[in-house]
Amino acid sequence: MESVPAYFGCLVFDDRVMKANLSAEVYQSLKKTIDEGAKLDIGVANAVATAMKDWAVANGATHYTHWFQPLTGITAEKHDSFISPSPDGGVIMEFSGKELIKGEPDASSFPSGGLRATFEARGYTAWDPTSYAFIKGKTLCIPTAFCSYDGYALDKKTPLLRSMEALNKQALRILRLFGNDTAKCVRSSVGPEQEYFLVTKEMYDQRPDLRFTGRTLFGAKPPKGQEMDDHYFGVIKPRVAAYMEELNEELWKLGILAKTEHNEVAPAQHELAPIYTTTNIATDHNQLTMEIMQKVAAKHGLVCLLHEKPFAGVNGSGKHNNWSIATDEGQNLLSPGETPYENAQFLLFLCAVIKAVDDYQDLLRISVATAGNDHRLGANEAPPAVVSIFLGDELNAVLEAIETDTPYKGVEKTQMKLGVDVLPKFNRDTTDRNRTSPFAFTGNKFEFRMLGSSNSIACANIMLNSAVAESLRIYADRLEKAEDFKTTLNEMIRKTIKDHKNIIFNGNGYDDSWIKEATEKRGLLNYRTTPDCMPHLLDKKNVDMLTAHGVYSKAELESRCEIMLENYCKTVVIEANTMVSMAKRQIAPAVEAYAADVAKSAAAKKALDQTLACGYETGLVRKLSVLTDRIALKADELQDALLALHNAEDIEAESYMIRDTVLNLMGELRLACDESETLTAKKYWPFPTYADLLFGVK
Ligand code: ADP
Ligand code: MG
Repeated sequence: MESVPAYFGCLVFDDRVMKANLSAEVYQSLKKTIDEGAKLDIGVANAVATAMKDWAVANGATHYTHWFQPLTGITAEKHDSFISPSPDGGVIMEFSGKELIKGEPDASSFPSGGLRATFEARGYTAWDPTSYAFIKGKTLCIPTAFCSYDGYALDKKTPLLRSMEALNKQALRILRLFGNDTAKCVRSSVGPEQEYFLVTKEMYDQRPDLRFTGRTLFGAKPPKGQEMDDHYFGVIKPRVAAYMEELNEELWKLGILAKTEHNEVAPAQHELAPIYTTTNIATDHNQLTMEIMQKVAAKHGLVCLLHEKPFAGVNGSGKHNNWSIATDEGQNLLSPGETPYENAQFLLFLCAVIKAVDDYQDLLRISVATAGNDHRLGANEAPPAVVSIFLGDELNAVLEAIETDTPYKGVEKTQMKLGVDVLPKFNRDTTDRNRTSPFAFTGNKFEFRMLGSSNSIACANIMLNSAVAESLRIYADRLEKAEDFKTTLNEMIRKTIKDHKNIIFNGNGYDDSWIKEATEKRGLLNYRTTPDCMPHLLDKKNVDMLTAHGVYSKAELESRCEIMLENYCKTVVIEANTMVSMAKRQIAPAVEAYAADVAKSAAAKKALDQTLACGYETGLVRKLSVLTDRIALKADELQDALLALHNAEDIEAESYMIRDTVLNLMGELRLACDESETLTAKKYWPFPTYADLLFGVK
């Protein structure tokens, strides 16, 4: 294999390829579109399309696709070949600017939450030139946004780009007030750390629950789980190492900056983190990473599980969204600066984030809400469903000193007057010790830790960008009108700290006492489940903010709320149906067969010697019989509960029925089945156990 720099990005139509294959004029014009959002004229589009096609064909591509991210949460593509008939009976390879810019997938089957009646099936995809095109297999993939013909966003990329624009606009206003006239734009960047599990394909195939739902719906606790903490950062097994090696190669070819890999806490759990990049590209790359993870796994006889909670009783998988904002000149606005002025600016951006997270706790919670993630948030492994911010002792002390106008030990001057004193440098070590906080400051970025492993990172970043844009707008409105900039700035920062310090929590987020304090003393929100939080997407304050910044229209929000609840309901219903089927058709018959054999052996023994008590067999058969009765009963009750869902008035009502009834019955059915597993001889059990799955990859 060539050296990494030699093949890195070889499947990407990136800046290097553009420079080499476009005329200087076309290149400049495209660059202007990419960097400044300038409109692209059709002549340039034609030239780019031809160069793209020639490059793609030279690299083995025969097809192209507009690659987009519908609201299903995964990516979608419809392939068209480049061929076009030539008069002599042959074909030529063709691709026009028009085809590059706009596509029309038959979109009737994508969820739209009522935005696009299915008879009006037409939606269109529009090229996003800020994210590079790439080759996957034999197809040139063109990153696009997906909209309905009346202009409604039907995807996750459109609102993400809008939220980035909102943040850009408001952040620039603030920078100008601090005398920065040179920055052209401000962008948010993200580095998402991705967790996943690997199991063998052979075992996976034997588990309908894994195949249909991505998680195990049954499974007794194995004798050994993660209690020894011996997997975390442990030696990587050869088969996993081979997988990671190929995964890295595939990602590097696609220009994805895969950087860090290690074993995670649970057996069979691993993590991959890329180097951070601009948010919309990071989002595209994360979607691609998840796809490639699964593809490469298949080549190694493995299956990559991206579900948030594939196994009960061991850690689930999340995704840490490391987020910061920076200017095009490379200034990280969340990094404490060298001069007092920079420090005041840093504190203002810091306050903007604190205020945003407090004011829009609900939106952040909503942005990570799925049926899968409900199993994690609030359990003893992931941050709670309560949103709070960790700042670290040092920064916390600085904010306290500002709030109370008292001396701060780290600063030489006796009083913290903003814009006068130099703040101490915060190094990573002092800020990054808390792993239990949902939203932690880590030196020059925030780490939002509530995302589920299978979530698209788009939603979280849409809300984060928008909420911070709103704080900045409020600040800019005031500062632009201020007579005395410095005094107003001081007041605003102090007021933010006073008003929002309730959201700051530096203790252990996994502690039960914290939930009590958060909800009872501090009045923070605690939306435990998806049905609890999702309807709040449509609360007036949220709709007002998101529409004011042009991120969503009201209709788009209504449709998204509907789709998210629908996803939740469908997911759980599929799980429940899978459980009923496995319980009735696999588990109960297996337990029954075992009980019958035990009974038979007791009868045989008695035939030999009537005086034998056969207490073991009798007791076991009795227990198993009680359990099979219970399994049958609970499976029936669950089926009835599923039928009752048809009576729900609307999707919200259905989601409450699921939360309050269906999930409980699923738990009860599982309990009876798992107990049977512990009593049934292994050779009777119809599928691989937790021990097999978790320790099966050598
Ligand atoms: P940890 O496991 O301690 O959380 P890692 O180094 O594994 O840290 O991951 C940190 C992630 O944060 C990486 O993806 C990294 O590229 C990203 N990151 C670093 N600096 C920034 C920044 N300024 N903005 C956004 N992400 C960043
Ligand atoms: Mg992390």
